[in-house]
Amino acid sequence: MRTYRFQGIPDSIAAAARESMKSPQYGHPAHAEVATGYGPCRQCLQTFRVGTEERLLFTYQPFSDPSALPAPGPVFIHREPCERYDGSALPQALRPLPLALESYGAGGMLLAQRRVGAVAFEAVLQQVFEPAEVRYVHLRNAEAGCFIARIDRQ
Ligand SMILES: [Zn+2]
Repeated sequence: MRTYRFQGIPDSIAAAARESMKSPQYGHPAHAEVATGYGPCRQCLQTFRVGTEERLLFTYQPFSDPSALPAPGPVFIHREPCERYDGSALPQALRPLPLALESYGAGGMLLAQRRVGAVAFEAVLQQVFEPAEVRYVHLRNAEAGCFIARIDRQ
């Protein structure tokens, strides 16, 4: 069975946002608040403790491919430094969330979009990665639409 790599956003981006209180890619002001929702944090890929943990909201553009059409959107990270998630499995904290997967090919071309729904996450992931032209996959929130994490073939 194929293995995958799930990654939070780069440490450099998260650190720059915390330090400058701005979006590192766009310069818009970042917003700090006590978490009013589960998030998750895009760096450690853990959900926020609502009402207690502080989080930072800023504009993030998830495509590293320079030929991809940029897709800036709002993301949250912990206000305090946390450890970037880099692992071969979907973090347990994300399993109960409404999830969708988007596969991209060369030049950041969108190839497929699937809601995870009632089917096992791993089965949908395997299907989405099936075509050889798929280069990487974005995990998104199926309700809010925002980017959560990037997934690559290991
Ligand atoms: Zn975090």
